[in-house]
Amino acid sequence: MFNKKSVADIDVNGKKVLVRVDFNVPIKNGQVGDDTRIRAALPTIRYLLAHNAAVILCSHLGRPKGGPDPAFSLKPVAEHLAGLLGQPVNFAGDFAGPLSVEAAAKIKPGDVLLLENTRFEAGETKNNPELSQRLASLADIFVNDAFGSAHRAHSSTEGVAQYLPAVSGFLMEKEIQYLGEAIANPKRPFIAILGGAKVSDKIGVIRNLLKITDQVLIGGGMANTFFKAEGYPMGDSLVEDEALETARELLAEGGQHLRLPVDVVIADRMENEAQSKTVSVGAVPEGWRILDIGPETIQAYAKAIQSANTVVWNGPMGVFELPKFATGTFGIAQAVADSGATSIIGGGDSVAAVNQSGLAGKITHISTGGGASLEMLEGIVLPGVAALQDKS
Ligand code: AMP
Repeated sequence: MFNKKSVADIDVNGKKVLVRVDFNVPIKNGQVGDDTRIRAALPTIRYLLAHNAAVILCSHLGRPKGGPDPAFSLKPVAEHLAGLLGQPVNFAGDFAGPLSVEAAAKIKPGDVLLLENTRFEAGETKNNPELSQRLASLADIFVNDAFGSAHRAHSSTEGVAQYLPAVSGFLMEKEIQYLGEAIANPKRPFIAILGGAKVSDKIGVIRNLLKITDQVLIGGGMANTFFKAEGYPMGDSLVEDEALETARELLAEGGQHLRLPVDVVIADRMENEAQSKTVSVGAVPEGWRILDIGPETIQAYAKAIQSANTVVWNGPMGVFELPKFATGTFGIAQAVADSGATSIIGGGDSVAAVNQSGLAGKITHISTGGGASLEMLEGIVLPGVAALQDKS
């Protein structure tokens, strides 16, 4: 299925290998917070070091505006990574600039060098060919292990692959294998669960999933726009009026395959201390808002999930950040964990919910890339993957 070469398919002995990783981690007071993404890149880095390569790492971090900004420096990541690897990590104070050239010229097999934030160069997000070439000139081989950025055609993800032999890292390979297999060759029944705030972000995804899955279960704020399209009163619920027409089309296209909650938890404000109650869809009074799916819905969705052999899930079922409205999301997490199906979860919030619920170990694959996994579910070929060498 995954027909791209990986780092294990090429000779890296004595080579300088540029690796695009996803080190877009939270930084507070100069310290790395949750380091899941850094750890996820370790297998590729360790493999390269063990095979006598010199490793040059690059990543974006946050969204710096208009050039270098110390608040978005990767320097703390270099220190953190050194701790994880148990060896020094050199740091170049620019991205593909003179400091990078100097540092890359010096490194030897077994050494690790981290470049400064890719987005300190304006050309990065424009996929500027001159920047891509400058980056490529630092190394002999390019490895893309940043699944979370593979849906963006940037210099460090797509552009640089035009100028060097380009292959995938192990994380990238694993991500594409799980998601790609589920999409191309699912064991049926194949059920998708979609939630989150807005339907407008996921219209293409819903459309494609209606084609390739057996059922799409909708929850979260995005269900509201469908309810309104069906003519129900919504009170103060989050509704996207500009997406009503599309919601109507999707309802018509989806028919029985597109399922909506039958009951909802409503509250008089979005706070843990709010008054709340469970009502049928259609019984939301003025001044109240939908903040979670109700118990009947959890049960009905859990039953569907139990019958599935493949489940993909993106987006929470309610405002799960507030414990009072987290029941739906955790209920669905439990159902997915108990289903015995091949289960794939993507998207920051649903991943956080599964981690919080302690059920992560019962999920087949937890994706590190929310946007990238959504684009795959939408049926889009990721530019960062398309640019890699084919196996044959
Ligand atoms: P997304 O980034 O689109 O996956 O949306 C995630 C966000 O949707 C979370 O912060 C949730 O709190 C929010 N959300 C889920 N359900 C609702 C709802 N019924 N009303 C408002 N926000 C919601």
